[in-house]
Amino acid sequence: MSKTGYVNSIQSLGAVDGPGIRFVVFMQGCNLRCGCCHNPDTWALTGGTATTAEEIIAKAERYREYQGDTGGITLSGGEPLLQAEFAYEVFSLAKDRGINTCLDTSGSVMNDEVLKLLSVTDRVLLDIKYTDDRSYREYAGCELDTVLGFLALLNQRKIPTTLRQVIIPTLNDNEENILRLGDIAKRHPCVDKIELLPFKKMCKVKYDNLKLPFRFGHLPEPTAEKIAELENLLK
Ligand code: SF4
Repeated sequence: MSKTGYVNSIQSLGAVDGPGIRFVVFMQGCNLRCGCCHNPDTWALTGGTATTAEEIIAKAERYREYQGDTGGITLSGGEPLLQAEFAYEVFSLAKDRGINTCLDTSGSVMNDEVLKLLSVTDRVLLDIKYTDDRSYREYAGCELDTVLGFLALLNQRKIPTTLRQVIIPTLNDNEENILRLGDIAKRHPCVDKIELLPFKKMCKVKYDNLKLPFRFGHLPEPTAEKIAELENLLK
């Protein structure tokens, strides 16, 4: 166990990326370019802080008392599947110590290392960006079928899954999309939760600092009422 991992940042006491209180590790590097991305600083495939799985677990264990029975460690990004071997080492060590493991992913990468990683993953947060292929290709940079294939595998392996979707006004804040999302969930019994997350623009400063265009910078944030209305469609 000595694979080097490259980490963008760490949140010691995260409350929104998986069950309970979690030690959240944002991995460096992403293969997609989502217009709504709030972490463009994770995109570059090089850079990040070099670390080992042992170092990550030692840090996570310092917060063990806050994690309790439900919390644990989450690997997010960027795209953690791009560093699947390292992620496997982190999760294996976590499981040896009885720490719950959660993977926050776009589900757009599949290979033998990813399959191995899933064998030590307690929950997946699958970020399904859109429910139509055209939007997926245009605004995220991958195919809907790739992500659905990933979800089918999670279902086959019975890995508890939370489907998450960032709600972006004019692009996916419509009934048709949400009903399709609900239908996808229904067809995959591994999905026990759906989270609709409001598109936020406070990340604009990151784009400015990186001198990158914020592709959805012109779009409004959704209102709380709109999110509640869409959530109602899923009931
Ligand atoms: S997959 Fe996540 S980190 Fe990558 S571009 Fe999309 S939102 Fe950003």
